[in-house]
Amino acid sequence: MQCFCNDAIAAPAYHRDASALRMTLALILAAFIAGHAIAIRLGSFLGIFALMALWEALSPRRHRSMTRRARWTGNLGLVIMNSLLLRLILPAAAVGAAAFATAHGWGLLALAHLSAGATVVIAVVALDLTIYFQHVMLHAVPILWRLHRVHHADLDLDVTTGLRFHPFEILLSLLIKLAAIVLLGAPVVSVVIFEVLLNATSMFNHGNVRLPAAADRLLRWLIVTPDMHRVHHSIEEDETNSNFGFNLPWWDRLFGTYRPQPRAGHEAMTLGIRTFRRPRVCAWLPGMLAIPFIGGAAGYTINRRSWGPPA
Ligand SMILES: [Zn+2]
Repeated sequence: MQCFCNDAIAAPAYHRDASALRMTLALILAAFIAGHAIAIRLGSFLGIFALMALWEALSPRRHRSMTRRARWTGNLGLVIMNSLLLRLILPAAAVGAAAFATAHGWGLLALAHLSAGATVVIAVVALDLTIYFQHVMLHAVPILWRLHRVHHADLDLDVTTGLRFHPFEILLSLLIKLAAIVLLGAPVVSVVIFEVLLNATSMFNHGNVRLPAAADRLLRWLIVTPDMHRVHHSIEEDETNSNFGFNLPWWDRLFGTYRPQPRAGHEAMTLGIRTFRRPRVCAWLPGMLAIPFIGGAAGYTINRRSWGPPA
């Protein structure tokens, strides 16, 4: 603070005006994002959903094994149920935790004394890394894999798969996110940006959409693309246990879980889980909610294979 005041006094008047204007604009933007968090989240959700659904209709990557109507009834039914139960109430908890932590000067970022912009960028990247490790954990711990199976049991992959999670998994992610926000001292703006990004990229990377190969190659250095994430939804466990990233593709490359393409190719590969093949279980809402309680999961951890009879 001292340093900033001295600089401001030494700087020419126009420089001071420009930096004061920049700071005011940044504050207005931050206040707008924080104050309109729900509207921004909902607007981006509906906009990206509509765009992806249109893209899937115009240029699908794979033939569907089931009709959209059959799968979307279950997938969107789960989304509506989760929204009523959790999504409308709980996102406020993440924003509230961020406001509380920063107001009290809590967290690692408060110790670093970085600029506001750098703090937001680092917080978003750190939250993304947290989600990567959370996702690895969901696959590695048998009881958590039971929950995460609801997402993976989808027999096709499209924009709605990116929203299809068991309510307990959403609750668990929220608790982990709250801990990460407090530990980091993540600013409110970074939390809103992260949540909007995660929701948008999840719908994008689960999309049944065709991207030119060159665009996919280039884009997957910056963001997880649909072809990259489809490998993760393969029925082959070694392929399922790769490409855990949701936003940034770097974590998989850094931690050795990156796999560029499925062995069978994108059109011929089988999606879903070997032991869950019946639409009545995989695409019907009561069946989906029962998935965590069906069969065993102890045989499934990373690097282990155990196939029982199909449910
Ligand atoms: Zn997964």
